[in-house]
Amino acid sequence: MPHSISPNPVKDEPMDADPEIPGDAAPAKTTTDDDVDMNDEPQAEAPPAGQAEEVKKEVKLDDLFADEDSDEEFPSSAPVKREGASSPARATSPSDIPASDPEVMRSFYQRLFPWRQLFQWLNHSPTPTNDFGNREFAFTLQNDAYLRYQSFATADLLRKDVLRLMPSRFEIGPVYSTNPRDRKTLRNSSAFKPLAKELCFDIDLTDYDDIRTCCDKATICNKCWQFMTMAIKVVDVALREDFGFKHIMWVYSGRRGAHAWVCDKKARSMDDQKRRAIANYLEVIRGGSQSGKKVNVKRPLHPHLSRSLDILKTHFQEDVLDVQDPWGTSEQAEKLLQLLPDRNLNDSLRRKWESAPGRSSTSKWADIDAVAKTGASKNLDSRALLEAKQDIVLEYTYPRLDIEVSKKLNHLLKSPFVVHPGTGRVCVPIDTRALEDFDPLGVPTVQSLLAEIDAWKGGEEGEEGDDKSKVNIADWEKTSLKPYVDQFRTFVSGIIKDEGITKVKREREDDSMDF
Ligand code: ZN
Repeated sequence: MPHSISPNPVKDEPMDADPEIPGDAAPAKTTTDDDVDMNDEPQAEAPPAGQAEEVKKEVKLDDLFADEDSDEEFPSSAPVKREGASSPARATSPSDIPASDPEVMRSFYQRLFPWRQLFQWLNHSPTPTNDFGNREFAFTLQNDAYLRYQSFATADLLRKDVLRLMPSRFEIGPVYSTNPRDRKTLRNSSAFKPLAKELCFDIDLTDYDDIRTCCDKATICNKCWQFMTMAIKVVDVALREDFGFKHIMWVYSGRRGAHAWVCDKKARSMDDQKRRAIANYLEVIRGGSQSGKKVNVKRPLHPHLSRSLDILKTHFQEDVLDVQDPWGTSEQAEKLLQLLPDRNLNDSLRRKWESAPGRSSTSKWADIDAVAKTGASKNLDSRALLEAKQDIVLEYTYPRLDIEVSKKLNHLLKSPFVVHPGTGRVCVPIDTRALEDFDPLGVPTVQSLLAEIDAWKGGEEGEEGDDKSKVNIADWEKTSLKPYVDQFRTFVSGIIKDEGITKVKREREDDSMDF
Protein backbone atom coordinates (compact mmCIF):
# COMPACT_ATOMS: atom_id res chain seq x y z
CA MET A 1 0.00 0.00 0.00
CA PRO A 2 1.43 3.34 -0.93
CA HIS A 3 0.27 4.99 2.23
CA SER A 4 2.26 2.79 4.53
CA ILE A 5 5.55 3.88 3.03
CA SER A 6 7.39 6.91 4.22
CA PRO A 7 5.35 9.94 3.34
CA ASN A 8 8.50 11.46 2.01
CA PRO A 9 10.46 9.31 -0.40
CA VAL A 10 12.66 12.22 -1.29
CA LYS A 11 14.11 13.11 2.04
CA ASP A 12 13.58 11.83 5.52
CA GLU A 13 12.44 15.16 6.77
CA PRO A 14 10.33 17.56 4.81
CA MET A 15 12.30 20.56 3.76
CA ASP A 16 11.28 23.73 5.47
CA ALA A 17 7.58 23.57 4.89
CA ASP A 18 6.73 26.85 3.38
CA PRO A 19 3.53 28.50 4.49
CA GLU A 20 3.75 30.70 1.46
CA ILE A 21 0.69 30.69 -0.70
CA PRO A 22 1.16 29.50 -4.26
CA GLY A 23 1.26 32.19 -6.86
CA ASP A 24 3.01 34.43 -4.40
CA ALA A 25 6.32 32.75 -4.70
CA ALA A 26 8.49 35.80 -4.95
CA PRO A 27 10.05 36.30 -1.54
CA ALA A 28 10.82 39.92 -2.15
CA LYS A 29 8.77 42.58 -3.86
CA THR A 30 11.87 44.18 -5.28
CA THR A 31 12.17 41.63 -8.05
CA THR A 32 8.55 41.55 -9.00
CA ASP A 33 8.20 44.93 -10.59
CA ASP A 34 10.85 44.38 -13.18
CA ASP A 35 12.10 41.34 -14.93
CA VAL A 36 15.54 40.14 -14.11
CA ASP A 37 17.84 42.31 -16.15
CA MET A 38 18.69 40.62 -19.40
CA ASN A 39 20.47 43.49 -21.08
CA ASP A 40 23.65 41.49 -21.46
CA GLU A 41 21.83 39.10 -23.70
CA PRO A 42 19.78 41.17 -26.08
CA GLN A 43 19.10 38.10 -28.23
CA ALA A 44 17.26 36.42 -25.45
CA GLU A 45 14.85 39.22 -25.11
CA ALA A 46 11.57 39.02 -26.88
CA PRO A 47 11.36 42.35 -28.62
CA PRO A 48 8.57 44.66 -27.63
CA ALA A 49 5.86 45.10 -30.16
CA GLY A 50 6.56 47.72 -32.77
CA GLN A 51 10.33 47.41 -32.60
CA ALA A 52 11.36 44.01 -33.91
CA GLU A 53 11.60 43.15 -37.56
CA GLU A 54 8.77 40.65 -37.37
CA VAL A 55 6.51 43.26 -36.03
CA LYS A 56 6.82 45.23 -39.22
CA LYS A 57 5.41 42.28 -41.10
CA GLU A 58 2.77 41.56 -38.54
CA VAL A 59 -0.83 41.50 -39.46
CA LYS A 60 -2.35 44.26 -37.44
CA LEU A 61 -5.76 43.64 -36.09
CA ASP A 62 -6.71 46.89 -37.71
CA ASP A 63 -5.88 45.31 -41.04
CA LEU A 64 -7.42 42.03 -40.17
CA PHE A 65 -10.67 43.72 -39.42
CA ALA A 66 -10.23 46.67 -41.76
CA ASP A 67 -13.49 48.40 -42.24
CA GLU A 68 -14.12 49.46 -45.75
CA ASP A 69 -15.89 52.53 -44.49
CA SER A 70 -13.09 53.31 -42.07
CA ASP A 71 -15.53 53.49 -39.25
CA GLU A 72 -13.14 52.92 -36.43
CA GLU A 73 -15.78 52.81 -33.82
CA PHE A 74 -17.08 49.51 -35.06
CA PRO A 75 -14.03 47.65 -36.26
CA SER A 76 -15.35 44.30 -35.17
CA SER A 77 -18.30 44.43 -37.51
CA ALA A 78 -16.06 44.72 -40.50
CA PRO A 79 -15.53 41.87 -42.94
CA VAL A 80 -12.23 40.09 -42.69
CA LYS A 81 -9.80 41.05 -45.40
CA ARG A 82 -6.99 38.58 -45.73
CA GLU A 83 -4.65 38.59 -48.65
CA GLY A 84 -3.99 35.15 -50.02
CA ALA A 85 -6.72 33.57 -48.03
CA SER A 86 -8.48 30.96 -50.07
CA SER A 87 -11.76 31.17 -48.26
CA PRO A 88 -14.07 34.02 -49.11
CA ALA A 89 -14.18 36.94 -46.74
CA ARG A 90 -16.72 36.49 -43.99
CA ALA A 91 -18.69 39.14 -42.23
CA THR A 92 -17.61 38.40 -38.74
CA SER A 93 -16.58 39.65 -35.35
CA PRO A 94 -13.30 38.61 -33.73
CA SER A 95 -15.06 36.06 -31.60
CA ASP A 96 -16.40 34.31 -34.68
CA ILE A 97 -12.95 33.61 -36.05
CA PRO A 98 -11.69 30.23 -34.89
CA ALA A 99 -8.70 30.30 -32.56
CA SER A 100 -6.88 28.05 -34.97
CA ASP A 101 -7.06 30.67 -37.73
CA PRO A 102 -3.42 31.17 -38.78
CA GLU A 103 -3.63 34.95 -38.66
CA VAL A 104 -5.19 34.89 -35.21
CA MET A 105 -2.46 32.56 -34.00
CA ARG A 106 0.25 34.67 -35.63
CA SER A 107 -1.02 37.78 -33.90
CA PHE A 108 -1.17 35.92 -30.62
CA TYR A 109 2.41 34.65 -30.78
CA GLN A 110 3.69 37.99 -32.01
CA ARG A 111 1.88 40.28 -29.68
CA LEU A 112 0.63 38.44 -26.63
CA PHE A 113 2.68 35.37 -25.78
CA PRO A 114 5.05 36.10 -22.85
CA TRP A 115 8.25 34.78 -24.47
CA ARG A 116 10.59 36.58 -22.14
CA GLN A 117 8.92 35.22 -19.02
CA LEU A 118 8.77 31.71 -20.50
CA PHE A 119 12.50 31.88 -21.20
CA GLN A 120 13.33 33.02 -17.69
CA TRP A 121 11.09 30.36 -16.21
CA LEU A 122 12.85 27.51 -18.02
CA ASN A 123 16.32 29.02 -17.93
CA HIS A 124 16.51 29.73 -14.19
CA SER A 125 18.97 32.49 -14.80
CA PRO A 126 19.12 35.84 -16.58
CA THR A 127 21.73 34.62 -19.08
CA PRO A 128 21.09 31.67 -21.42
CA THR A 129 22.08 28.30 -19.96
CA ASN A 130 21.72 24.66 -20.97
CA ASP A 131 18.58 24.55 -18.85
CA PHE A 132 16.95 26.39 -21.74
CA GLY A 133 19.28 25.48 -24.62
CA ASN A 134 19.06 21.72 -24.12
CA ARG A 135 15.35 21.72 -23.35
CA GLU A 136 13.07 19.83 -25.70
CA PHE A 137 10.13 21.62 -27.28
CA ALA A 138 7.60 19.71 -29.35
CA PHE A 139 5.33 21.43 -31.86
CA THR A 140 1.90 20.31 -32.98
CA LEU A 141 1.53 21.85 -36.42
CA GLN A 142 -1.71 22.98 -38.04
CA ASN A 143 -1.78 19.78 -40.14
CA ASP A 144 -1.44 17.77 -36.90
CA ALA A 145 2.17 16.80 -37.62
CA TYR A 146 4.11 16.49 -34.41
CA LEU A 147 7.68 17.82 -34.34
CA ARG A 148 9.74 16.58 -31.42
CA TYR A 149 13.26 17.39 -30.18
CA GLN A 150 13.20 21.07 -31.11
CA SER A 151 15.57 23.23 -29.07
CA PHE A 152 16.58 26.86 -28.96
CA ALA A 153 19.44 28.85 -27.53
CA THR A 154 17.29 31.87 -26.74
CA ALA A 155 13.71 32.98 -26.36
CA ASP A 156 13.95 34.95 -29.57
CA LEU A 157 14.97 31.89 -31.61
CA LEU A 158 12.06 29.94 -30.13
CA ARG A 159 9.72 32.78 -30.96
CA LYS A 160 11.01 33.01 -34.54
CA ASP A 161 10.49 29.30 -35.12
CA VAL A 162 7.02 29.38 -33.65
CA LEU A 163 6.13 32.23 -35.99
CA ARG A 164 7.63 30.33 -38.92
CA LEU A 165 5.91 27.02 -38.17
CA MET A 166 2.77 28.41 -36.53
CA PRO A 167 2.09 25.38 -34.34
CA SER A 168 -1.42 25.10 -32.94
CA ARG A 169 0.29 24.41 -29.64
CA PHE A 170 3.67 23.42 -28.27
CA GLU A 171 4.78 21.20 -25.45
CA ILE A 172 7.68 21.31 -23.06
CA GLY A 173 9.85 18.28 -22.39
CA PRO A 174 12.98 17.68 -20.35
CA VAL A 175 16.44 19.21 -20.37
CA TYR A 176 18.73 16.69 -22.05
CA SER A 177 22.40 15.92 -21.50
CA THR A 178 23.16 17.37 -24.93
CA ASN A 179 21.31 19.54 -27.39
CA PRO A 180 18.23 17.57 -28.55
CA ARG A 181 18.92 18.59 -32.14
CA ASP A 182 22.29 16.85 -31.99
CA ARG A 183 20.99 13.55 -30.67
CA LYS A 184 21.51 11.63 -33.94
CA THR A 185 25.06 12.82 -34.41
CA LEU A 186 26.23 11.30 -31.15
CA ARG A 187 28.40 8.21 -31.53
CA ASN A 188 27.14 6.81 -28.26
CA SER A 189 23.38 7.05 -28.19
CA SER A 190 23.31 6.64 -24.41
CA ALA A 191 25.04 10.00 -24.18
CA PHE A 192 21.67 11.54 -24.99
CA LYS A 193 19.47 11.25 -21.93
CA PRO A 194 16.99 13.40 -20.05
CA LEU A 195 18.46 15.12 -17.02
CA ALA A 196 15.79 17.35 -15.56
CA LYS A 197 12.21 18.41 -15.86
CA GLU A 198 9.58 19.93 -13.63
CA LEU A 199 7.48 17.43 -11.73
CA CYS A 200 4.08 17.66 -13.41
CA PHE A 201 0.52 16.71 -12.55
CA ASP A 202 -2.44 16.54 -14.87
CA ILE A 203 -6.05 16.52 -13.73
CA ASP A 204 -8.88 16.31 -16.22
CA LEU A 205 -12.61 16.59 -15.52
CA THR A 206 -13.41 13.75 -17.91
CA ASP A 207 -12.05 11.46 -15.18
CA TYR A 208 -14.96 12.65 -13.03
CA ASP A 209 -17.67 11.64 -15.48
CA ASP A 210 -19.00 8.87 -13.22
CA ILE A 211 -19.57 11.32 -10.36
CA ARG A 212 -20.42 14.64 -11.99
CA THR A 213 -24.04 15.01 -13.04
CA CYS A 214 -23.98 18.53 -14.53
CA CYS A 215 -21.70 17.89 -17.52
CA ASP A 216 -19.74 15.19 -19.23
CA LYS A 217 -16.93 14.67 -21.69
CA ALA A 218 -15.52 17.96 -22.96
CA THR A 219 -18.11 20.20 -21.35
CA ILE A 220 -17.57 21.89 -18.01
CA CYS A 221 -19.32 24.45 -15.87
CA ASN A 222 -18.56 26.20 -12.62
CA LYS A 223 -20.33 23.44 -10.67
CA CYS A 224 -18.05 20.65 -11.78
CA TRP A 225 -15.01 22.92 -11.82
CA GLN A 226 -15.26 22.66 -8.02
CA PHE A 227 -13.78 19.16 -8.39
CA MET A 228 -10.71 20.86 -9.80
CA THR A 229 -10.65 23.37 -6.95
CA MET A 230 -10.69 20.51 -4.43
CA ALA A 231 -8.00 18.62 -6.33
CA ILE A 232 -5.68 21.61 -6.46
CA LYS A 233 -6.08 22.25 -2.72
CA VAL A 234 -5.27 18.65 -1.77
CA VAL A 235 -2.32 18.13 -4.12
CA ASP A 236 -0.84 21.57 -3.53
CA VAL A 237 -0.75 21.26 0.25
CA ALA A 238 0.73 17.74 0.05
CA LEU A 239 3.50 18.89 -2.27
CA ARG A 240 4.35 21.77 0.04
CA GLU A 241 3.97 20.18 3.46
CA ASP A 242 4.97 16.59 2.78
CA PHE A 243 7.69 17.12 0.20
CA GLY A 244 8.82 20.66 0.94
CA PHE A 245 8.29 22.00 -2.58
CA LYS A 246 7.82 25.75 -2.84
CA HIS A 247 7.60 26.70 -6.49
CA ILE A 248 4.35 25.18 -7.68
CA MET A 249 2.41 26.69 -10.57
CA TRP A 250 -1.09 25.55 -11.51
CA VAL A 251 -2.14 26.21 -15.09
CA TYR A 252 -5.59 25.98 -16.65
CA SER A 253 -5.41 23.61 -19.60
CA GLY A 254 -7.79 25.73 -21.68
CA ARG A 255 -10.83 23.49 -21.54
CA ARG A 256 -11.51 20.98 -18.79
CA GLY A 257 -8.40 20.46 -16.72
CA ALA A 258 -5.39 21.81 -14.94
CA HIS A 259 -1.67 21.09 -14.84
CA ALA A 260 0.73 21.53 -11.97
CA TRP A 261 4.35 22.42 -12.62
CA VAL A 262 6.58 21.83 -9.60
CA CYS A 263 9.64 23.86 -10.45
CA ASP A 264 11.93 23.53 -7.42
CA LYS A 265 15.42 22.44 -8.42
CA LYS A 266 15.16 19.32 -6.28
CA ALA A 267 11.93 18.38 -8.08
CA ARG A 268 13.40 18.96 -11.52
CA SER A 269 16.38 16.70 -10.91
CA MET A 270 14.34 13.72 -9.68
CA ASP A 271 14.71 10.45 -11.58
CA ASP A 272 11.76 8.30 -12.64
CA GLN A 273 11.86 6.23 -9.46
CA LYS A 274 11.35 9.27 -7.25
CA ARG A 275 8.63 10.62 -9.53
CA ARG A 276 6.82 7.28 -9.36
CA ALA A 277 7.10 7.28 -5.56
CA ILE A 278 5.46 10.71 -5.29
CA ALA A 279 2.83 9.82 -7.87
CA ASN A 280 1.95 6.64 -5.98
CA TYR A 281 1.86 8.54 -2.72
CA LEU A 282 -0.74 10.92 -4.13
CA GLU A 283 -2.77 8.34 -6.01
CA VAL A 284 -5.78 7.12 -4.06
CA ILE A 285 -8.53 6.68 -6.66
CA ARG A 286 -7.86 3.57 -8.68
CA GLY A 287 -9.77 1.64 -11.30
CA GLY A 288 -11.53 3.26 -14.21
CA SER A 289 -14.49 0.91 -14.36
CA GLN A 290 -17.96 2.11 -13.52
CA SER A 291 -18.51 -0.36 -10.72
CA GLY A 292 -16.32 -1.53 -7.90
CA LYS A 293 -14.68 0.19 -5.02
CA LYS A 294 -12.18 2.78 -6.18
CA VAL A 295 -10.70 3.60 -2.78
CA ASN A 296 -8.79 1.05 -0.74
CA VAL A 297 -6.76 2.73 1.98
CA LYS A 298 -5.21 1.37 5.15
CA ARG A 299 -6.22 2.26 8.69
CA PRO A 300 -5.21 4.18 10.62
CA LEU A 301 -5.38 6.77 7.88
CA HIS A 302 -2.10 8.21 6.67
CA PRO A 303 -1.78 11.85 7.85
CA HIS A 304 -1.98 12.98 4.23
CA LEU A 305 -5.41 11.33 3.94
CA SER A 306 -6.67 12.68 7.28
CA ARG A 307 -5.67 16.16 6.16
CA SER A 308 -7.25 15.60 2.75
CA LEU A 309 -10.52 14.52 4.35
CA ASP A 310 -10.50 17.67 6.48
CA ILE A 311 -10.08 19.78 3.35
CA LEU A 312 -12.64 17.81 1.37
CA LYS A 313 -15.52 17.28 3.81
CA THR A 314 -17.11 20.70 3.26
CA HIS A 315 -16.75 20.33 -0.50
CA PHE A 316 -18.39 16.93 -0.22
CA GLN A 317 -21.42 18.39 1.54
CA GLU A 318 -21.79 21.46 -0.65
CA ASP A 319 -20.30 20.76 -4.05
CA VAL A 320 -21.09 17.06 -4.27
CA LEU A 321 -24.20 16.26 -2.22
CA ASP A 322 -26.03 19.58 -2.64
CA VAL A 323 -24.93 20.59 -6.13
CA GLN A 324 -24.22 17.34 -7.97
CA ASP A 325 -26.87 15.27 -6.14
CA PRO A 326 -25.18 12.04 -7.28
CA TRP A 327 -27.67 9.61 -5.69
CA GLY A 328 -30.97 11.30 -6.53
CA THR A 329 -32.60 8.38 -8.37
CA SER A 330 -32.99 4.92 -6.89
CA GLU A 331 -30.66 3.58 -9.55
CA GLN A 332 -28.00 6.09 -8.49
CA ALA A 333 -28.66 5.33 -4.83
CA GLU A 334 -27.76 1.69 -5.50
CA LYS A 335 -24.25 2.88 -6.25
CA LEU A 336 -24.09 4.37 -2.78
CA LEU A 337 -25.47 1.25 -1.15
CA GLN A 338 -22.90 -0.90 -2.94
CA LEU A 339 -20.21 1.01 -1.07
CA LEU A 340 -21.76 0.43 2.37
CA PRO A 341 -20.76 -2.66 4.38
CA ASP A 342 -23.92 -3.83 6.16
CA ARG A 343 -26.62 -5.67 4.23
CA ASN A 344 -29.35 -5.20 6.85
CA LEU A 345 -28.67 -1.50 7.08
CA ASN A 346 -28.79 -1.30 3.30
CA ASP A 347 -32.17 -3.05 3.21
CA SER A 348 -33.61 -0.52 5.68
CA LEU A 349 -32.17 2.38 3.73
CA ARG A 350 -33.50 1.02 0.46
CA ARG A 351 -37.02 0.68 1.90
CA LYS A 352 -36.88 4.19 3.30
CA TRP A 353 -35.76 5.71 0.03
CA GLU A 354 -38.22 3.75 -2.10
CA SER A 355 -41.04 5.19 -0.03
CA ALA A 356 -39.75 8.73 -0.62
CA PRO A 357 -38.90 9.09 -4.30
CA GLY A 358 -36.74 12.07 -5.17
CA ARG A 359 -35.13 12.20 -1.75
CA SER A 360 -31.99 14.27 -2.08
CA SER A 361 -28.45 12.95 -1.81
CA THR A 362 -27.89 15.19 1.22
CA SER A 363 -30.81 13.54 3.01
CA LYS A 364 -29.77 10.07 1.93
CA TRP A 365 -26.27 10.63 3.28
CA ALA A 366 -27.70 11.76 6.62
CA ASP A 367 -30.07 8.76 6.63
CA ILE A 368 -27.13 6.36 6.83
CA ASP A 369 -26.21 7.31 10.39
CA ALA A 370 -29.79 8.03 11.43
CA VAL A 371 -31.03 4.59 10.36
CA ALA A 372 -27.91 2.93 11.82
CA LYS A 373 -28.76 4.47 15.22
CA THR A 374 -32.25 2.97 15.18
CA GLY A 375 -30.66 -0.46 15.35
CA ALA A 376 -31.67 -1.50 11.87
CA SER A 377 -28.81 -3.96 11.89
CA LYS A 378 -28.15 -5.98 15.02
CA ASN A 379 -24.53 -6.76 14.21
CA LEU A 380 -23.58 -3.39 12.81
CA ASP A 381 -19.83 -2.80 12.75
CA SER A 382 -19.82 0.93 13.36
CA ARG A 383 -16.11 1.24 12.63
CA ALA A 384 -16.54 -0.48 9.27
CA LEU A 385 -19.41 1.90 8.51
CA LEU A 386 -17.37 4.96 9.44
CA GLU A 387 -14.48 3.79 7.28
CA ALA A 388 -16.79 3.06 4.36
CA LYS A 389 -18.20 6.58 4.66
CA GLN A 390 -14.69 8.05 4.67
CA ASP A 391 -13.88 6.02 1.57
CA ILE A 392 -17.03 7.34 -0.12
CA VAL A 393 -16.05 10.94 0.65
CA LEU A 394 -12.65 10.24 -0.89
CA GLU A 395 -14.14 8.52 -3.92
CA TYR A 396 -16.35 11.55 -4.61
CA THR A 397 -13.83 14.31 -3.88
CA TYR A 398 -10.22 13.12 -3.88
CA PRO A 399 -8.13 14.27 -6.88
CA ARG A 400 -8.24 11.98 -9.90
CA LEU A 401 -4.78 12.28 -11.32
CA ASP A 402 -3.63 11.24 -14.76
CA ILE A 403 -0.67 9.75 -13.01
CA GLU A 404 1.37 8.71 -16.06
CA VAL A 405 2.18 12.38 -16.66
CA SER A 406 3.89 12.55 -13.27
CA LYS A 407 5.89 9.33 -13.44
CA LYS A 408 8.30 10.02 -16.25
CA LEU A 409 11.07 12.54 -16.52
CA ASN A 410 10.74 12.66 -20.30
CA HIS A 411 6.98 13.20 -20.45
CA LEU A 412 5.97 16.30 -22.41
CA LEU A 413 3.31 18.72 -21.25
CA LYS A 414 1.57 21.59 -23.02
CA SER A 415 3.24 24.92 -22.38
CA PRO A 416 1.53 27.53 -20.23
CA PHE A 417 0.06 30.44 -22.21
CA VAL A 418 -0.58 28.52 -25.41
CA VAL A 419 -4.11 28.69 -26.78
CA HIS A 420 -6.50 25.78 -26.60
CA PRO A 421 -7.53 25.38 -30.25
CA GLY A 422 -11.05 24.26 -29.39
CA THR A 423 -12.03 26.98 -26.96
CA GLY A 424 -9.60 29.75 -27.92
CA ARG A 425 -8.82 30.17 -24.22
CA VAL A 426 -5.30 30.88 -23.13
CA CYS A 427 -3.71 28.36 -20.75
CA VAL A 428 -3.29 30.86 -17.93
CA PRO A 429 -1.85 30.28 -14.46
CA ILE A 430 -4.43 29.78 -11.74
CA ASP A 431 -3.99 32.10 -8.77
CA THR A 432 -4.27 29.70 -5.85
CA ARG A 433 -4.57 32.62 -3.40
CA ALA A 434 -7.99 33.14 -4.94
CA LEU A 435 -8.60 29.58 -6.04
CA GLU A 436 -12.34 29.67 -5.37
CA ASP A 437 -12.69 32.71 -7.61
CA PHE A 438 -11.10 31.12 -10.65
CA ASP A 439 -13.66 30.97 -13.43
CA PRO A 440 -12.52 28.71 -16.27
CA LEU A 441 -15.28 30.05 -18.51
CA GLY A 442 -14.13 33.62 -17.86
CA VAL A 443 -10.55 33.03 -18.97
CA PRO A 444 -9.70 35.34 -21.87
CA THR A 445 -9.78 33.93 -25.37
CA VAL A 446 -7.25 34.80 -28.01
CA GLN A 447 -9.98 36.53 -30.00
CA SER A 448 -11.10 38.68 -27.07
CA LEU A 449 -7.50 39.62 -26.27
CA LEU A 450 -6.75 40.73 -29.81
CA ALA A 451 -9.90 42.82 -29.73
CA GLU A 452 -8.76 44.35 -26.44
CA ILE A 453 -5.48 45.49 -28.00
CA ASP A 454 -7.48 47.24 -30.68
CA ALA A 455 -9.85 48.77 -28.21
CA TRP A 456 -6.95 50.03 -26.12
CA LYS A 457 -5.42 51.84 -29.07
CA GLY A 458 -8.70 53.32 -30.13
CA GLY A 459 -9.81 54.21 -26.65
CA GLU A 460 -6.81 56.29 -25.66
CA GLU A 461 -7.27 59.96 -25.24
CA GLY A 462 -4.90 62.35 -26.97
CA GLU A 463 -4.27 60.26 -30.03
CA GLU A 464 -1.99 62.87 -31.53
CA GLY A 465 0.52 63.47 -28.78
CA ASP A 466 1.41 61.51 -25.70
CA ASP A 467 2.78 58.66 -27.83
CA LYS A 468 5.97 58.32 -25.85
CA SER A 469 4.24 56.78 -22.88
CA LYS A 470 2.67 54.17 -25.12
CA VAL A 471 5.80 53.02 -26.89
CA ASN A 472 7.10 50.79 -24.14
CA ILE A 473 3.84 49.15 -23.27
CA ALA A 474 3.75 45.59 -24.47
CA ASP A 475 0.55 44.50 -26.15
CA TRP A 476 -0.27 41.96 -23.42
CA GLU A 477 -0.25 44.82 -20.91
CA LYS A 478 -3.17 46.37 -22.75
CA THR A 479 -5.32 43.31 -22.22
CA SER A 480 -6.87 41.13 -19.56
CA LEU A 481 -3.91 38.80 -20.02
CA LYS A 482 -1.87 41.21 -17.91
CA PRO A 483 -2.71 39.87 -14.43
CA TYR A 484 -1.82 36.35 -15.58
CA VAL A 485 1.51 37.39 -17.06
CA ASP A 486 2.24 39.44 -13.93
CA GLN A 487 1.50 36.40 -11.80
CA PHE A 488 3.78 34.25 -13.96
CA ARG A 489 6.54 36.86 -13.74
CA THR A 490 6.32 36.95 -9.95
CA PHE A 491 6.43 33.17 -9.85
CA VAL A 492 9.47 33.04 -12.12
CA SER A 493 11.42 35.66 -10.19
CA GLY A 494 10.83 33.61 -7.04
CA ILE A 495 12.51 30.61 -8.67
CA ILE A 496 15.43 32.62 -10.01
CA LYS A 497 16.00 34.26 -6.66
CA ASP A 498 16.07 30.89 -4.88
CA GLU A 499 18.45 29.36 -7.40
CA GLY A 500 20.80 32.30 -7.10
CA ILE A 501 20.94 31.82 -3.35
CA THR A 502 21.48 28.09 -3.75
CA LYS A 503 24.32 28.66 -6.17
CA VAL A 504 26.13 31.03 -3.83
CA LYS A 505 25.62 28.60 -0.96
CA ARG A 506 27.02 25.71 -2.95
CA GLU A 507 30.07 27.61 -4.01
CA ARG A 508 30.73 28.50 -0.39
CA GLU A 509 30.15 25.13 1.20
CA ASP A 510 30.87 22.87 -1.75
CA ASP A 511 28.55 20.24 -0.43
CA SER A 512 25.95 18.31 -2.33
CA MET A 513 22.74 19.44 -0.81
CA ASP A 514 20.56 18.38 -3.64
CA PHE A 515 19.65 14.79 -4.29
ZN1 ZN B 1 -20.55 20.92 -14.96
